[in-house]
Amino acid sequence: MKFEELNLAPEIIEAIGYMGYEKASPIQEKAIPAAINGKDLIAVAQTGTGKTAAFTLPILHNIITNKIKGTSTLIITPTRELAMQIDRQIQGFAYFLGINSIAIYGGGDAKEWDQQKAALRDGCEVIVATPGKLLSHLNMSYAKTDKICHLILDEADRMLDMGFVDDINKIISKLPKKRQTLMFSATMPPKIESLARKILVDPEIVTIAISKPSEKIVQEACLVYDGQKIDFINHLVNGEENYKSIIVFSSTKRKVNDIVRGLRNKKYVVEAMSSDLEQSQREEIIRDFTAKKIRIVVATDVMSRGVDIKDIDLVINFDVPSNEEEYVHRIGRTARAGSDGRAVTLVNEADMYNFNNIEKLIEKEVPKIKMPASFGEGPEWSLKGGRSKYGGNTKPRSNSKPSNKPNSTTPKPKPKAKQQETKGGYLKRYKDGLKKKAEEEAAAGKTESSENTAKPDNSEATA
Ligand code: AMP
Repeated sequence: MKFEELNLAPEIIEAIGYMGYEKASPIQEKAIPAAINGKDLIAVAQTGTGKTAAFTLPILHNIITNKIKGTSTLIITPTRELAMQIDRQIQGFAYFLGINSIAIYGGGDAKEWDQQKAALRDGCEVIVATPGKLLSHLNMSYAKTDKICHLILDEADRMLDMGFVDDINKIISKLPKKRQTLMFSATMPPKIESLARKILVDPEIVTIAISKPSEKIVQEACLVYDGQKIDFINHLVNGEENYKSIIVFSSTKRKVNDIVRGLRNKKYVVEAMSSDLEQSQREEIIRDFTAKKIRIVVATDVMSRGVDIKDIDLVINFDVPSNEEEYVHRIGRTARAGSDGRAVTLVNEADMYNFNNIEKLIEKEVPKIKMPASFGEGPEWSLKGGRSKYGGNTKPRSNSKPSNKPNSTTPKPKPKAKQQETKGGYLKRYKDGLKKKAEEEAAAGKTESSENTAKPDNSEATA
């Protein structure tokens, strides 16, 4: 569908043209009409689907067509990378509109704090913020929230996973009750439904297929022992001119540093990216990576969702993420916006069980590629042992040396695999929940919206 068919203001259509977007993505097609109509919205969509424009465009449209002045829009997002990215997109779209935005996130210096403070005091139209930092500002008297009529929660599931539920509830308690709320989430677990019930009023629900990587990504896995991994990466990328930008993901910061050392020994231009770095260092790495001055970035999952860099040719999973959804996010860094990409996952003997769960989630068997003969034997594919995200190791983790010994460990009973929510499942439960709540309220003689009576939910805080 063309953007012109979505009834967006001509100035916005013009800006979209400058951004180089030709057709609306499926989530944009579904979310934009609902949001333009002023409806509350739950959108189940992953990053990489064009979700940012799906909430940004209708809100900008509403601001200009309704001639809204002052701070009208608050977008809450889990990470500073996402905050900066959303802010950049808004600045692109709003170029002709006279609408200003600012990203508010932690990790900056006193000068940044003062800039953020000034923007909040002066009524900057759109605020894009991480919860903690925003709350620090809102606790001061200068922040103007009385005109906020659009609230967007981006990556709501991730914010709850990161323990932001209290902060979010506190922020919402400081906002006007009469507003339009849009909630975007990659998944719809029960805790998201419960938040939705509290803060949304009669929402429209739009979903696009969840947890499926783009068909454009060539996915492969290679069965390797830990001690073979660096050499295998070298084998994959050495002399491969087409791989100009490569991300290697690993679950822990310690491993990231080991991998960087290993690849530097092989003379690659490589940098580490983890939450240990200062904000300015992270930005510099992303800049140099985008400019192709750095060929390989080795990252923890800090980069798996928050960073939008086009033209990443190859994603290598040094290990298998314990969370299946995270796999989809990691490999989604390649083949962005319709281009091609390759994702290779290095699977050691302890990771096979988790990798199999990923294959179940994406409903696809990922081809297993072979190491060259000179590497010696890798482990055999077996689901008899392995690491469980529920119960630690179900068999001892291998040492780093290749071994041909058969696995003698008796496998423990497998933990129950995570049930993937079906669309019907969560929507039905969500609607049933709403119905039940309405019945309860009717029985209690209440007429207020659920949000007016909701108390902050403290039960979710984890971090
Ligand atoms: P997001 O899911 O918002 O992180 O967007 C992923 C990437 O897709 C970003 O680089 C966007 O600029 C790009 N994008 C979003 N919508 C479109 C569209 N309709 N056409 C082309 N690219 C798009």
